[in-house]
Amino acid sequence: MRPALFDLVGRLTDDDLPAYVYDLPALREHVHAIRAALPDRVELLYAAKANSEPRILRTLAGHVDGFEVASGGELSHVRGLALDAPLAFGGPGKTPPELARALDAEVERLHIESEHELLLLTSLLGDRTVNVLLRVNLPVDLGQVALAMGGHPSPFGMDPAQLDHCLDLIAANARIRLRGLHLHLASGLTAPAQLALIEEVLTWAEDWAYHRGINLPEVNVGGGMGVDYTHPHKMFDWAAFGAGLRPLLARHPHLTLRIEPGRSITAYCGWYITQVLDIKVSRGQAFAVLRGGTHHLRTPAAKQHDQPFEVIPDDNWPWPWDRPEARDEPVTLVGQLCTPKDVLARRVMVKRLRVGDRVAFAMAGAYAWNISHHAFLMHPHPTFHHVDDAEVSVTGDACAYQLS
Ligand SMILES: *Cc1c(COP(=O)(O)O)cnc(C)c1O
Repeated sequence: MRPALFDLVGRLTDDDLPAYVYDLPALREHVHAIRAALPDRVELLYAAKANSEPRILRTLAGHVDGFEVASGGELSHVRGLALDAPLAFGGPGKTPPELARALDAEVERLHIESEHELLLLTSLLGDRTVNVLLRVNLPVDLGQVALAMGGHPSPFGMDPAQLDHCLDLIAANARIRLRGLHLHLASGLTAPAQLALIEEVLTWAEDWAYHRGINLPEVNVGGGMGVDYTHPHKMFDWAAFGAGLRPLLARHPHLTLRIEPGRSITAYCGWYITQVLDIKVSRGQAFAVLRGGTHHLRTPAAKQHDQPFEVIPDDNWPWPWDRPEARDEPVTLVGQLCTPKDVLARRVMVKRLRVGDRVAFAMAGAYAWNISHHAFLMHPHPTFHHVDDAEVSVTGDACAYQLS
């Protein structure tokens, strides 16, 4: 944990817990490094669904080429922040009002999921124009990946054979401009696996366009850059990814490549800070019951992993009896919910964990609070805080932060 973050966590009172803390300077540094690793002809969008917290989006705004939104709600939210960044609107099941709102908002790109959606668009267009990408589900062999959105029967995008009907519709309507194709096939890929997939996709896409005599200025290959919760320090190798893209792009000299990662951008900047309420032993196994749980941080339940954590000892013990503790043994960290699924980490070795100690769960910046079932059991919501270097440029103090 960085010192500025550790300081902020130390300032939180027990009443503030559980708390989400977002490390905005760390996020800024991370996205800056990602952008710097990518060739110029790659446009970087952030998939807002990973975490659309306003200050996170504001932090990213100067470093990405735009935001990908996947609902009318996200569209209104991001537009409402007045970030002045281009928006791409994607995702399945867009309703007619959502499509109309996207047209009113003059989104930079609309990612079309089906022929029906394209027909809806033509009926709503009026005298407006729109730039579209057709989302395609290519028959590629993805092997073992965390989440497969394509390469097999799926509700996302169209089969290649269905694209031709869409081309006919677009050819008949000058107000719909085809900019290219969109593919978001899998999540959880390493840099070499992403590069291999992108190479296959680009070869197919250029061949597809060539045989139809159409111009293909752009391919969006989606997100899915891997995040390894078991090895937090093994990050997606953006430098190798950028280096690998250069020769690939050289073979497609007229193409702009777009990527729209979510998880790999914001996962690392978020922390869920809580506290041990009870420690008990059940049939020989230690359990630590924490304030909060998977109704605040559903990520480990959704992905079936152990959320990585750090123990922050708290020596304050106000009670006259012995402090319950686990020592040099595997402990299962659970929340306050009355369900056996409320597990944050299972049988993880700890040196020492006592009632009252704080536990800081790392990698809680993406698909964490915003995918959790907050209302279940009616516990209080966490409080939210940011490490912020807004003052740094003023004071020159590298450790400056503010609680907010
Ligand atoms: C979810 C999603 C993304 C982002 O995926 P990550 O795994 O968070 O990088 C990008 N594009 C589309 C179309 C998505 O549905």
